[in-house]
Amino acid sequence: MENTPARPPSARLDSYVDRYAARTAGMTASEIRALFAVASRPEVVSLAGGMPNISGLPLDVVGGAIADLVATQGPVAMQYGSGQGVPELREQITDVMRLEGIEAHPDDVVVTVGSQQAVDLVTRVFCDPGDVVICEAPSYVGALGVFKSYQCDVVHAEMDADGLVPEALRQAIAAVKAAGKTIKFLYTIPNFHNPAGVTLAAERRIEILDICRTEGVLVLEDNPYGLLGFDREPMRALRADEAENVIYLGSFSKTFAPGFRVGWALAPHPVREKLVLAQESATLCPPQFSQMAVSAYLAKHDWQGQIKQFREMYRERRDAMVSSLADLMPAACQWNVPSGGFYVWLTLPPGIDAKGMLPRAVTARVAYVPGTAFYADGFGSSHMRLSFCYPTPERIREGVRRLAGVLEAEMEL
Ligand code: PMP
Repeated sequence: MENTPARPPSARLDSYVDRYAARTAGMTASEIRALFAVASRPEVVSLAGGMPNISGLPLDVVGGAIADLVATQGPVAMQYGSGQGVPELREQITDVMRLEGIEAHPDDVVVTVGSQQAVDLVTRVFCDPGDVVICEAPSYVGALGVFKSYQCDVVHAEMDADGLVPEALRQAIAAVKAAGKTIKFLYTIPNFHNPAGVTLAAERRIEILDICRTEGVLVLEDNPYGLLGFDREPMRALRADEAENVIYLGSFSKTFAPGFRVGWALAPHPVREKLVLAQESATLCPPQFSQMAVSAYLAKHDWQGQIKQFREMYRERRDAMVSSLADLMPAACQWNVPSGGFYVWLTLPPGIDAKGMLPRAVTARVAYVPGTAFYADGFGSSHMRLSFCYPTPERIREGVRRLAGVLEAEMEL
């Protein structure tokens, strides 16, 4: 196009570098971002991204609900709204949370721009530079990015097949306290963990809550996948058993669609008030149109039936992933079999570096996320996250076949 201005100079020539706030030092582009651009080429099987597969959504129903919304409440839907979020939606959110044993008042819910913004607002409200956030090892890359951007110190605590290990949490808390630092909260993903795929066992939930209450550590429970279990009903949320020391985060991104960017935080009342103030300064209000569209969808559609369909689709993909891994991967690899969610966490044979191998995998037309992305401390090089949510079962099998080929070549080096 004739009038398109020239491309801006690259970040390497950044003449603003001396003027940025110190906190931007933690805002670094992922080193694997360039490879991700390659990974999105159609010939590459991407086992990297965590994009939900929403091809099964009834677009006619969604479209009808939105058309109806515009026709009947257009001027309200397109107006500014409350910083806390649309009341009808907050009421419906309490119905969603009831599926996990949470009895909450809509007044304690704050609607956010995805649960990602909820992580940001909670961190903004609680953390000064140098404060400690305890995270599972590994942990969600997007939350680690938020903690870094607020200059928090992340301390990891080990997990095993049953989720966060209570003794590891005790030790992490003791070590941080002994170092004279302040722990602001434990950030935990109890269900179908991103990236580890594991779920916190029921008896551990009580113990973890107990430790945190005794030690005065707040719990930030991030639960975007809780309703996407394959084999059983949703587990009881941590928040269901502890209202005063848990902030619970939920999202419609995986149970409906991420493009609306609607998530929420449920917090003890005084914290909720602070979160609303933080939300007002960040966005004035969460997008009114999106909230009302999600609310109309929930009111008009069998959303629980839709979630059931999603669960069946993801279970089929999980099965494709784990059976292909069993058939094709070198024997020295290990992985877990997740009972819900989107992710398998794979451990490579000793001496194989997932990040170093990635360019060769992309050349072989398969992509994954190296484990180092999920640690704040450079650990994780012998792991990778494999997502089974988006590709078809056939593509998953083809991706695993390619990955196994790359790995075998790597082991011969
Ligand atoms: N938390 C976890 C653990 C996630 O996996 C994600 C999305 N990948 C989010 C939060 C953010 O989701 P959203 O902002 O779309 O609700």
